[in-house]
Amino acid sequence: MNEPQDFAGKVGIVTGGTRGIGKAITQMLVARGAKVYVFARDQQAGQALQHELGERCIFAQADITNSDQIDELIEKIFKGEGRIDFLVNNAGITKDNLLLRMKDDEWDAVLATNLKGAYHCTKAVARWMLKQRSGAIVNITSVVGQIGNAGQANYAAAKAGLIGFTKSVARELASRGIRVNAVAPGFIETAMTEQLPEEVCKTYLDSIPLGRFGRPEEVAEVVCFLLSERASYITGHVVNADGGLVMP
Ligand code: NDP
Repeated sequence: MNEPQDFAGKVGIVTGGTRGIGKAITQMLVARGAKVYVFARDQQAGQALQHELGERCIFAQADITNSDQIDELIEKIFKGEGRIDFLVNNAGITKDNLLLRMKDDEWDAVLATNLKGAYHCTKAVARWMLKQRSGAIVNITSVVGQIGNAGQANYAAAKAGLIGFTKSVARELASRGIRVNAVAPGFIETAMTEQLPEEVCKTYLDSIPLGRFGRPEEVAEVVCFLLSERASYITGHVVNADGGLVMP
């Protein structure tokens, strides 16, 4: 299929772009002409991705919980490229447990990656986007941040936090031509969901009007739209890609 080249000449960052939803986003952006820096921790997966997607995909080994590392890396990208057009805060982890069994380190790790990690990357990128007076940011939240999920109090808190963060930063940066939106996927077929027991899958499927789990590419389409000029009048929004699971 011939992809539209609406990202030709654009440069940006996708965190957690080595697999699942982040990989689909990276693939689509590269296919549409962008140069994409992918941040993740696993060097081997990063190199394999770079090999697969070619020279407009650049893997940068980075842990988004490490703010010094992120600041340094983002400064280097801006100084090397002369611009950063987009950021997708996609990297995320789960450490599920019922509230009374949850350990502090499970709570802390999920908040540190899913919420504070996005804060680190956004703050570091915003500094440069403000200079160039343009940019688009998309944060990957979750339906769980909107409706909650038993056993995921840490994850739901982080993802709900990311929605508030998106709206606040959208208001702060709008006057400088920077748009900030969020995408809330429902249940998407990735490594994160493939460990779910069969009976849990069935219960989830029963609650999805479209009657199936989503594919990573179906989330990537929404992200690419929000990053593109076609979404030039949209900021501070949460768009669900969830088969109708949440209808606010
Ligand atoms: P995966 O587990 O498949 O991929 C997660 C990615 O994040 C990997 O590339 C991983 O690479 C990276 N990552 C994790 N921690 C860090 C870190 N500290 N620093 C840098 N990179 C990190 O996840 P999915 O594709 O399933 O999910 C992607 C996003 O979508 C997440 O934010 C998730 O919460 C959200 N989401 C997913 C849904 C689903 O059904 N799958 C539903 C709703 C939301 P590495 O380990 O090498 O660092």
